[in-house]
Amino acid sequence: MPSEQELVRAVWLLQNGGLVALPTETVYGLSANALDVAAVQRIYDVKGRPKTSPLIVHVASIEMARSLAREWPLEANILAGAFWPGPLTMVVKKRPVVPDLVTAGLDTVGLRMPAHPVMLEVIRRAQVPLAAPSANRFTEVSPTTAQHVYDSLGDAVDLILDGGPCRVGIESTVVSLAGEEPVLLRPGMISREDLERLLERPVRTVGDVEGAHPSPGLHHKHYSPRTPAVRVSDGKLPAGRVAYVWWRTPADAAVAIRMPDDVAGYARELYGALLEADRAGVDVIAVEATPTAAEWAAIEDRLRRALQ
Ligand code: AMP
Ligand code: MG
Repeated sequence: MPSEQELVRAVWLLQNGGLVALPTETVYGLSANALDVAAVQRIYDVKGRPKTSPLIVHVASIEMARSLAREWPLEANILAGAFWPGPLTMVVKKRPVVPDLVTAGLDTVGLRMPAHPVMLEVIRRAQVPLAAPSANRFTEVSPTTAQHVYDSLGDAVDLILDGGPCRVGIESTVVSLAGEEPVLLRPGMISREDLERLLERPVRTVGDVEGAHPSPGLHHKHYSPRTPAVRVSDGKLPAGRVAYVWWRTPADAAVAIRMPDDVAGYARELYGALLEADRAGVDVIAVEATPTAAEWAAIEDRLRRALQ
């Protein structure tokens, strides 16, 4: 955990246009004061992220969320009550105080209260909401340790706070509450079924909705290792030197990385495994197909984007 001095420095940097990589329970975030346009611009520059990709704004309270939302529907209160702090981002209509650069020009903003003591403490002390995409270069695998952040961004950030490995390991569920009906924009460890149970009505996915505005985590290629990566089943590996990421079927590979067979453990270790496989200097990464049950939907989503 970071020292008091590091916390003070992080807060000072964020209040003065700096960029600080902070741990959250999902992945490490590259944070800037969401209300400081120049600081937010630096996020896009450092990540090489297109301006069409809006940033999630992280808050430390529902009051802070409401200060950024033009409308805060009852359903936002229901979901915040159930899942905040936690890996759920809610998209709501934004107030003018939220810069267009943060929202990629959309009239909506994605808000989340993260469940990590370091991130929450920094937001509380800084007294500003933090725009924070994953702390890696655009299209690459998201970082789940401080070392991963350093490997991807190095000195391009002003400070990296080490809060240990991320507990959830994949990005938040994103649900839009800005329209007539709730729409799941990005699957995550809080499932569509969890949301439907709480809201007591159907939550459609973005594919089901005509004319829904696209959501950037939905870029086709994303979360990708540099090494070619393919999905395999029954332990049938491709030719060449292979890094094999498996959970059920062992096979003879140059590098074998065994994954937990429960979904939470798999999510927690997925990006670390892909980064390790990438560093192994193999010809190809082979990932064993995961279960097809609904609770694996978020893993399936990330693998589909990571594997070409
Ligand atoms: P990242 O920060 O890389 O995890 O990605 C941010 C994600 O938040 C995107 O993939 C979008 O799904 C979502 N997002 C953030 N703000 C909005 C918004 N205003 N409208 C729709 N989606 C959003
Ligand atoms: Mg990302």
